[in-house]
Amino acid sequence: MPFIFTNRLGGVSKDPFTSANLGDHVGDEAASVLENRAQLESQIGMPIVFMNQVHGDTVVLVEEKTNTPTCDALITTERKLAVAVMVADCIPLLLKSDVAVAAVHVGRKGLMNGVARKTIDAMRDLGAEVIHSYIGPNICGSCYEVGADIFSEVVSKYPSSDSSSRTGKATLDLVSGLKTDLKDTVLLDLSSCVLEDKNSFSYRRDGITGRQAGVIWL
Ligand SMILES: [Zn+2]
Repeated sequence: MPFIFTNRLGGVSKDPFTSANLGDHVGDEAASVLENRAQLESQIGMPIVFMNQVHGDTVVLVEEKTNTPTCDALITTERKLAVAVMVADCIPLLLKSDVAVAAVHVGRKGLMNGVARKTIDAMRDLGAEVIHSYIGPNICGSCYEVGADIFSEVVSKYPSSDSSSRTGKATLDLVSGLKTDLKDTVLLDLSSCVLEDKNSFSYRRDGITGRQAGVIWL
């Protein structure tokens, strides 16, 4: 498959970023992050463009690896260039068509601001017809507890996100909500819960921690 979802395993970072941390904004040593990213580039055999993610809805088209754009979705139409989204609980969403691929950061804010739809529309504008979507590991609908205000805000827009924890607290199932935005794509849901999986980074579980990534290429 022309994509990969990474986890904690491999890499050179030390605690609490052990060990394949790809995030350069979380307090890890810069040299370790660069080495981890270089290992990943070597593994897939091409450069990877990352983002400065800000929970916004900006979609950026990249043609080469230059700087790191501030955005929450990256699209490329270039072969031999990969795009990446970093996460530690949020949903890493990857999109693929014959003419373009995209990496999208979909947390609660991204779900609400429609960044996934905006990215799909941008891919259609570039000529994408059949779009495959791949949802990677994220915090699950039993673990993502939220306050009452946030719960009602999200559930009023995405009723299928209504969920509860094993002890009956209000939680959000962001993947169920996101799926309603992916109805015109061919969906492969590769979700597993990062909070419950010690081999994954989870901000909710650990606070100071690293980031895994979803990476895709044409
Ligand atoms: Zn869970």
